[in-house]
Order: sequence, then C-alpha cells, then structure tokens
Amino acid sequence: MSTHVSRRRFLGAAAASVPGAWSLANALPSATSRSEQIASAMPKNRIIDMHVHFDEKKPSFIADFLKISDRLNLAACLLTPFASRKIVFEAAKEHPTQIIPFGFVDLDAPDVVKQVEELHAMGFRGLGELEFVRKPYNDPSYFPVYELANQYGWIVMFHTGIVLRRKFDEPEDVASGRMRPIYLEEIARRFPKITVLGAHCGNPEYEWAAEIARWNPNVFFDLSGSTLTKMHARLAEFQKIFWWSATEWHSAEWTVKTPNNDPSAFIKVVFGSDTGLDEIASVIKQYHDMFDACDVPERTRKMIMGGTLAKMLGLPD
Ligand SMILES: [Zn+2]
Repeated sequence: MSTHVSRRRFLGAAAASVPGAWSLANALPSATSRSEQIASAMPKNRIIDMHVHFDEKKPSFIADFLKISDRLNLAACLLTPFASRKIVFEAAKEHPTQIIPFGFVDLDAPDVVKQVEELHAMGFRGLGELEFVRKPYNDPSYFPVYELANQYGWIVMFHTGIVLRRKFDEPEDVASGRMRPIYLEEIARRFPKITVLGAHCGNPEYEWAAEIARWNPNVFFDLSGSTLTKMHARLAEFQKIFWWSATEWHSAEWTVKTPNNDPSAFIKVVFGSDTGLDEIASVIKQYHDMFDACDVPERTRKMIMGGTLAKMLGLPD
C-alpha cells in the first residue's frame, strides 16, 4: 500500500522500437556512448530499488538519498511528480549510476499526454507510480498514455490493491477497486512493448497478481508496502502464490527469451521499498527473510534485487 502521507534519463536513448512481442532483449535501450559510459561506471551487484518516491517537500531529499545509495550500494527509480521533473532530471544527470528518473503523472490530468511526451523528451525512463485513478486502469481514456509508453518501450509502474485514505472528513473520489492487478493483464496484452510493473503485488490479491505475471512476460510485481510485514509469520506462503517454479506451467516466452533462463517463479518479483529513506535497509532485510522462507535460489535473488531491472534499463548486472 502506498504511504504518501509519510513517504516521502537514465540518459540513454529510450528503448528501441522492435516489432513483435516483449522480451528483455527488446526492453533494452539502444546503446549510446553516454549510456555505455554510465553502464561502465556502475558498481557491480548494485541493488536497484524500483519504488522510491521523490519527496518534493524535503529540500535535502537528493543529498539524503545519495548517502543511503552509497551506504547500501543501491540505485533507485525516483518516482517524480511532474512539477519536480527538472530537479530530479538534473540530479540524474549528475548521478546517473544512482538516480533513474521516472515520471509520476496523474492519468486523469487533461494534459497528461503532453506531460508524458515532455518527460520522454527530457530523458525520463518510464512512468510511475500511477495511482489514485478516477477510472479503472484499463479504461480506454487512458490508452493514449499507454500508446506513448508502448512506443517508447517504457517501464510503467502501477499501484495495485488497497490504497490509503488521505482524508477522513471530506469526500474522496478514490477506490482501490479501480487499481486491481487484473487490469494490468489487458494493458500488458494490448501494449506488448510496455514493461508493466505492479506495485504491492495486488495486496491482498496476490494470486491474481502472480497468475497475470505468469502468463505475461512483460509483467512483474514488487512486494513493497505492508505485505511483507503482514505476511511476516507466514512468508513461506509465497511459494503457494509463486508456485510454478521448475514446472511446465511457466510462461514459455519467458523461458525462451530470458538471457539467464531462470525457472524460478520468483523471477517475476522485483525489489521495491516504498518507504522513507531510513527504512530501505529494513525492507531489504524483509525481502531476504522471504527468500530464505521460500528457498529462492541465489541467482534468482540477484535478479530480484537488481539484475532484472538492470537488464530492463540497460545497466550492468
Ligand atoms: Zn502504491
């Protein structure tokens, strides 16, 4: 679940437009000397956190983040409100191995298409976290945004599942039911060059989230929010949700096209924290507790903690 109350380019080209279905290979940005330089400067085994919200109210946010990034060997997709795009873009230009800029837009804003085009022109790497929508995610009025993201070969992160209530004493036009993970299936199929990331694994609709990831090679989920805390005493249950490891039921396309050909169902999970900067380390520990409880293989752990996102973003593993 999102915690807005408290929570606080990449400079390579956008993903090449390769006709045909999605795969990690065609999610890669086309090589430029700038992106190659950045890639070679990136430390090995860096954790990539898909889910860090840029806090526009905190002037020291970038400096604070850079300290945490150094301490944890962690890069983050900084989910940036449109109004803060220039600050984060400049920071990403200066610290390209630590900050990967993502645009946080309101799908219902009348000029959202223009905003998305501007973010792309600036060098943002994707969109997210999309949330608080007035209509379900698969509403055709949102398709122009998805069309652009598809054209750009972008990663688009959607909030899924239960969402916080910000106001208790005034009406709010907000409903978790518009953000169910099942809607991501249609987006992934209609727009096959988008890499669809669902935040929070659909909390509490984990099963729907996982099944949609299983059949759609361009769908992944993070386990940020309250899930790993809620499931603390029963983390092994994730093996029942991500159940298809080493069976014939995993996505055939995933198996064929994934460079590392990982048969673990947990390959559909990516790391995301969605916490204040000081709590990222404790979310890393929660992920590792889940890995231990579910016997997640070492190579899959590495992919979850950064390898998969590095491949999607064209960064070194
Ligand atoms: Zn969220």
